Amino acid sequence: MEKPETKMMSKKSTILVIDDEETMRDACQQVLSKNGYDTETSADGADGLRKVRELTPDLVLVDLKMPGISGMEVLEKIGKIDSTIISIVITGYATIESAVEAMKRGAYDFLPKPFTPDELRIIIKRGLERRKLALESISLRQEKERIEKNFISMVSHEMRRPLIDVQEYLEVVLRGITGQLAPQQKEMLEKAGGQINTLLVLIKDWLDMSRIEAGTILRNLEPLDLSQILNKMVDLLRGKIKRKKITLEVNIPPHLPLIKGEKLSIERVFTNLIHNAIDYNREEGKILVKAKEGGEYVIIEVSDTGIGIPKKDVAFIFGEFFRVKNRKTQHIAGSGLGLSIVKKVVEAHGGSIEVRSEEGKGSTFTVFLPKFTPFREDSLTGLTGTNKGSPG
Ligand code: ADP
Repeated sequence: MEKPETKMMSKKSTILVIDDEETMRDACQQVLSKNGYDTETSADGADGLRKVRELTPDLVLVDLKMPGISGMEVLEKIGKIDSTIISIVITGYATIESAVEAMKRGAYDFLPKPFTPDELRIIIKRGLERRKLALESISLRQEKERIEKNFISMVSHEMRRPLIDVQEYLEVVLRGITGQLAPQQKEMLEKAGGQINTLLVLIKDWLDMSRIEAGTILRNLEPLDLSQILNKMVDLLRGKIKRKKITLEVNIPPHLPLIKGEKLSIERVFTNLIHNAIDYNREEGKILVKAKEGGEYVIIEVSDTGIGIPKKDVAFIFGEFFRVKNRKTQHIAGSGLGLSIVKKVVEAHGGSIEVRSEEGKGSTFTVFLPKFTPFREDSLTGLTGTNKGSPG
C-alpha cells in the first residue's frame, strides 16, 4: 500500500463520482456541490482511477456495473492507492451478495439506486467523518513517532554527552592534575563520579528499552555463534572478575549450533547476566558460564555463589526498575532494568529465561535460545554453509 497522504480536512472535501450513467453523475454532482463539496466525475473506471491518483479525493462514489474495468476492481485499486480514501458503492442491482463482496474489497458502505438526495447526503457525511478520523489517527501516530524519535536522540546525545564531560573533568581533578586533594575532597568527588556513572548506566539501559519497545532490535538478524559471543563477553569482564577475586569457570563447547539473532542485543543479554553474577557475588566467590545443546535450543547457564534472591522477590526481578532492597544490596549500583532487557531480548528471539536462586548461596540464570535451522528459514537460506555445528 502506498503511504497515505496526511491531508487534513480544513479545506472543502473532494468527492469523485465514477458512474457510466450521465444522469446519475449530474444528479450527484448537483446535490453534492450544493452542499459545499468539490465534486468531480468520471464516466468509467480507468478515468476514475486516474483522477483518484491525481486529486486524492476524500470520498469516491463507485458504480458497480460499468463497461471496462469493473466497479469491484476499481474499489480494490482505490484501496491500494490510498487506504484512507472512503469508497461508497452505488448500484442498481443491490443484492446482499454484491454488498458483501464490495465491503470485502474495501468499500465503506453501500447505496442502492434509486436514492434520495437526503440519503446521499447522510451517507456522504458519515463517510467523510470516517475519513477525518482515519487522517487524524495517522497524523497522531506520525506525531507520536516523531516525538519518540526526537526524545530518544535528545536523551542519547544531549543528556549523555554533558555527563561524560563531567566524568572526564572529575577524573582529571581526582588524578591530582589540578592540585593535591584533601582526603575528604577526594572521597566526595569519587562519590559524585559514582553517581554520574549510575546515571549513565540508567540512560544506556533506558535507551535499550526504547529500542526494544520500538521493535528495532530485530531488524539486523544474522546467524550467530554463541560460543564466540560468550567467550568474548567473558573476556571483556575478566578484569572486573579478577578485582573481586572471583574464580571463573567457563564450559562452552567450541561448536555450538548457531542461533539467529541481533548481535548487539544478544551480547547485551550475556554481559548483563555476567555483570550481575559479579556484582551480586561475594568476594572470592565463583561464577560458572556453561552452554550446551538441548532439543530445539541452545541452553546457556550463568551461575554464581553470591547473595541469592529472596524467595518473595524472585517473581519480580524481570520487571522494569525492580531491585531487591536489603542490607546486602544497598551498596550495589544498578538501574533495575538489566534483567527486564534480558528477558525482552530473549523473548523477542523466540527464547525464554529461568532463574533458580537460594538466598545466601547463589543464583543460576538459564537462557534458552532457539537453534537456527536454515532449511526452515526462507530469508536466510543463503547462509546455510556457515552453520558449522548444525543440528542437521
Ligand atoms: P540491577 O542489577 O541494575 O539492579 P537487574 O534488572 O539486572 O537490575 O536486576 C534486578 C534485581 O535482581 C537486582 O537489583 C538484584 O537485586 C537482583 N539480581 C539480579 N541478578 C542477581 C544475581 N545474580 N544474584 C542476586 N541477585 C540478583
